[in-house]
Amino acid sequence: MSAVRKPWIGGNWKCNGTRASVEALITSLNAATLPAPEAADIVISPPYLFLETVQARIRPEVHVAAQDCNAKGMGAYTGSISAEMLHEFGINTVILGHSERRDIFHETSEEVALKCKKALSLGLDIVPCIGEHREERLSGRTNEICFAQLAALAAQITDWSHVVVAYEPVWAIGTGLVATPAQAQETHAALRGWFREHVSAEVANTIRIVYGGSVSGANSAELARCPDVDGFLVGGASLKPEFAAICQNMA
Ligand code: PGA
Repeated sequence: MSAVRKPWIGGNWKCNGTRASVEALITSLNAATLPAPEAADIVISPPYLFLETVQARIRPEVHVAAQDCNAKGMGAYTGSISAEMLHEFGINTVILGHSERRDIFHETSEEVALKCKKALSLGLDIVPCIGEHREERLSGRTNEICFAQLAALAAQITDWSHVVVAYEPVWAIGTGLVATPAQAQETHAALRGWFREHVSAEVANTIRIVYGGSVSGANSAELARCPDVDGFLVGGASLKPEFAAICQNMA
């Protein structure tokens, strides 16, 4: 956590939810003790079908994000959702390039960057996700992989003021294998260094870089103490009451 960057905590619900479970989550979050809006940005990201309900019913200081949008806009793109639609529905944030989109739906870094460009052009805040696979970490290629993903983004993004970068090592997502605070801090510092070298000192100092991958109520306090960890993107634990504790630990 840094003194200058406001903490950001996202809950990525992924493809989970029934009408009943979404109602229960909204009720639980509305009753929970959360950091004040001045202390942290809290963003939850339900599947598309639930966006409008969640947006209407969640307490106003909690923001609502989509999990993807296309790079094309409206038109003959069966099955996809455009940034224009998100904008019209008042959904002001979108997660892009999650490793599940990259690995399962074969999105390339270049496609992710074009989606980022499109969403930014509509005035949305974006949360591009980057991170290495297990074998890449084991072979010492973590920085190389993450820097290449950042470079692809930088080819399309000029204004970074509406960007929160999520560093999510793929080996830590949904596995219970959380990065140690030392591993998270080392990579976050390296990513900030990349921004200093390739974008600007100003962006390096101000951009929020959040960690994702098996974040829980139990491990979040220690991770939150890392000076270059500005928050979390939480998957599994964002579907449980412990999400409130994670937000409290980060603020
Ligand atoms: P996890 O997922 O917290 O369940 O590991 C994080 C994510 O995929 O954003």
